[in-house]
Amino acid sequence: MIYIINKKFIAFFICLFMIFILLSIFINPLSIATSLNAPVEEDLFFPAFNVSVKDDDKLIALTFDDGPNKEFTTKILDYLESKNIVATFFVLGINLKGNDDILIKMVKTGCEIGNHSYNHKQFIHLKNSEIKKQIDYVDNYVKRVTGFSIRSVRTPYGEVNKKIKETIDRPIVLWSIDSEDWRKKDAKDIADHIISNVDNGSIILLHDIFDFTYEATILVVEELLAQGYKFVTVSQLLGLDDINSNGLVFRSK
Ligand SMILES: [Zn+2]
Repeated sequence: MIYIINKKFIAFFICLFMIFILLSIFINPLSIATSLNAPVEEDLFFPAFNVSVKDDDKLIALTFDDGPNKEFTTKILDYLESKNIVATFFVLGINLKGNDDILIKMVKTGCEIGNHSYNHKQFIHLKNSEIKKQIDYVDNYVKRVTGFSIRSVRTPYGEVNKKIKETIDRPIVLWSIDSEDWRKKDAKDIADHIISNVDNGSIILLHDIFDFTYEATILVVEELLAQGYKFVTVSQLLGLDDINSNGLVFRSK
């Protein structure tokens, strides 16, 4: 009798063990893969919209994320001003205090300020109310200091799903060329990558928090001006003010 019970117990534990192994194989890797693969587009592919670029235009939008940075954003802005060209700065709320002069200069020089959230948290993990707070903080700060009403939003890591899109209900502007400046760390590498991939209507992702990005910006601007490109803001490139762009996701071409 004892022998039979023991056998049943052993069979029971073997079953439990196998269920555990099966769950480990089929469930865990999926959830791990999902969390590692940021940026994530969870459930929809959002098409690219590019409403204002004509075939014979040579328009390009430089975009700088994660600033403002006292040293590098200032240097980039001074350089852009010296060339009389504009760019778009997707700013973080945590970097705004103490940098009012930079925000004011962005607006004065015709650059566009975009909203890149308060502190770069992954929106896919936030509640709707938390996403709204992240966006509102930057909108309100920039409006108070500069009078500029932010139109475009770039979500941290470019993460967009249906919930994020509907919660923000504004144009979400992603990019068509990722400079990967943070990984390359070399001005010439960064510039070469951009220059060899650029096309009419490109939106280029850079980060105004590195010296090598500042140096790369100079190389890119010099070369593309020589090639006849015109530098515009994302709103100008995409015609955000001319269409009802709320809730649309833009990647350009
Ligand atoms: Zn960012």
